[in-house]
Amino acid sequence: MRTRRIGHLSASFIIVISISLGIVGYLVMTVEQMVSRHTPQIDAAMEIKVNATLAHLRFEEIISGDRYEQIDDVWSYLDESDWYARALLEGGKNDEGTFVPLNSINMRRQIESVRVSLSKFRTIAEQRFSNYEASLPGSGIDQEFDRIFAGFIDQADQVETLLQESIALELSKFKQTAVFLTTILAATGVVLAIILYRLEMQREQHLHKIEQTSKKIEAQNTKLDYLAYFDTVSGLPNRSLFTDRLDQAVGHARRKSNCVAVLFIDLDRFKNVNDRLGHARGDEILKLTAKRLKQCLRSDDTVARIGGDEFTVILADLDDHKKAATAAGSVAEHISLELAKPFDIGGLKVDLSASIGIAIYPIDASEADALLINSDHAMYEAKQNNRGSFCFFSREIENRVTQELQIGHDLHNAIKENQFTVHYQPQYELQNDSIVGFEALVRWEHPKQGLLAPVSFMRVAEDTGLIEEIDLYVLNSICRQQQEWKQQGLPAGKIAVNFSAALFSRKDITNIIASHLAEYCVSNHELEIEITESAMLKEMNHTQQLFEKLTNIGISIAIDDFGTGYSSMSYLQNFSATVLKIDRSFVHDIDKSRSTQAIMLSMLELARNLNMEVVAEGVETPQEKAFIKSTGCRFGQGYLLGKPMTAQQAYALLLSEQENNVSVLSPRKV
Ligand code: C2E
Ligand code: MG
Ligand code: MG
Repeated sequence: MRTRRIGHLSASFIIVISISLGIVGYLVMTVEQMVSRHTPQIDAAMEIKVNATLAHLRFEEIISGDRYEQIDDVWSYLDESDWYARALLEGGKNDEGTFVPLNSINMRRQIESVRVSLSKFRTIAEQRFSNYEASLPGSGIDQEFDRIFAGFIDQADQVETLLQESIALELSKFKQTAVFLTTILAATGVVLAIILYRLEMQREQHLHKIEQTSKKIEAQNTKLDYLAYFDTVSGLPNRSLFTDRLDQAVGHARRKSNCVAVLFIDLDRFKNVNDRLGHARGDEILKLTAKRLKQCLRSDDTVARIGGDEFTVILADLDDHKKAATAAGSVAEHISLELAKPFDIGGLKVDLSASIGIAIYPIDASEADALLINSDHAMYEAKQNNRGSFCFFSREIENRVTQELQIGHDLHNAIKENQFTVHYQPQYELQNDSIVGFEALVRWEHPKQGLLAPVSFMRVAEDTGLIEEIDLYVLNSICRQQQEWKQQGLPAGKIAVNFSAALFSRKDITNIIASHLAEYCVSNHELEIEITESAMLKEMNHTQQLFEKLTNIGISIAIDDFGTGYSSMSYLQNFSATVLKIDRSFVHDIDKSRSTQAIMLSMLELARNLNMEVVAEGVETPQEKAFIKSTGCRFGQGYLLGKPMTAQQAYALLLSEQENNVSVLSPRKV
């Protein structure tokens, strides 16, 4: 838009300049024409008079006899005078210039009269000269001669005057035109100067604006570049820049035939920290983590944040695999130690740990992306083994990953083809060895691998989200089973079902449970839901509300594997759980270990204070059973008491218990 205006202006400027030049040219030309036209005319007017006067003088001299001039000179002067008069009427050319005929009728008439007078003068001069030659007395003719000459001079003077007046008039008109045009020219010049000045100012402004805009764009680009390649929370390179650098490092190592190590660092249970402390503090921890990671590395090593709580490190240019493994191992150890130190967040001490996986080019992967993936698998292994530890990628991990991929694929079919079944493990009242219920445990009848326990597929099921469907299948099965057993006159007491975090966090979970119970006419108090500590802490607010809702309607909630997760005594009081299932690691060899006994006693004390029942898991020996019984723990579950079994076996067990007249099935009451 602006450019177009400037284009228009410069076009107008060119037009104005052209017109100005035209005007100047016109004025100069007109002056030249006037000069070339009028100068000969003035000369001619003078010449008429001068030549006639010379003729008069010569004539008088001849007549007076003072000089013996030739009479022909007189006639030639008169001819000359007439030639000039004619030139003014018809135009002509001689050595003095070109004569342009006069336009003015008045003047032309005057010149005609001059010519007539001149002719009269010649006629009388001829008469006088004949008289003179004939020696006749000439006083009469002399007077007439003088009168006619005086008349001629008068007319010639008038011609001169008229010519001068006409030239003066023309000159004055020309002056007016010249003044007018010059004024226009000057005004146009001033306007042009103003326009040019304004244009220049605008140009300056535009240039300034363009400069400012390009600076802004540059700053925006820098910012965008930063956002594209750096993580704003930690200030570290992001995934995109990391991938780029890893590609480069691997390419370089390929050319130099050396090694690159990638460390995949994942903060353990960071989500919980985030949930509990809030995102602002979580971000603060991530920043401090980045700072600590940098301190563990050399300046030319790359450390990046590639996900929420995932950091990666590239150790490049390592001579050989052994040196790469040593360097990666010692960096991982250093990082583990640094991250294990408490974080001070506004006076609050937060303990963290990180699981680290290591993969080395070219042994563990020959491409950058595979190297990163394998370091992630190694990290996963480290997390499974022992949080806060590090693990090198290995063929075993590779096999496991391959198996899991296969499992993932098979799981989809398993759901479609109904390959799951439920086993039941009895739970006992320890004081009288009576069955109080069962825990439902899922099993997979794999077409090739046979009966699989959850350990073989649970992780994949959780990662792929298929766990929800499995849990719902189990919930449906136990409700149907409960109904069947009741119809057969053998109610199974309370059946506990394990819920994954995924199913538990569904907003419609209460409705799902209610509809299953209603469909199979199962009472609320006949169902128990088991949830692990870590699942429970995933969405604390939702979990708290759900616990309250379910327990209020008589559905029991058990915290599974207690002691293996956070085991935070303080948060338990915020959840209205019904049962604490003490993990089997606290039951194992309890009769022999004083420290385990102490833990068990404090857990029992805690449960008592919170009005919760306790189930000891994994009771395997009579000694363990005896000791647990002696502590006052009411309920137990374990291989010693009864292994997980099929529904038919569970039915048979219920039947034999009934026949033996043991007071079966007095469901746990809280
Ligand atoms: P869990 O809920 O703690 O279940 C108890 C596990 O301990 C069962 O393993 C059971 O077979 C085993 N167990 C019971 N008594 C003993 C004992 O005396 N010694 C030993 N060594 N083990 C004992 P299982 O069936 O392999 O299940 C493992 C875990 O898988 C369960 O632990 C539970 O967390 C999960 N799980 C099982 N079924 C389901 C399910 O339907 N849904 C979900 N989400 N998880 C399930
Ligand atoms: Mg359980
Ligand atoms: Mg358990």
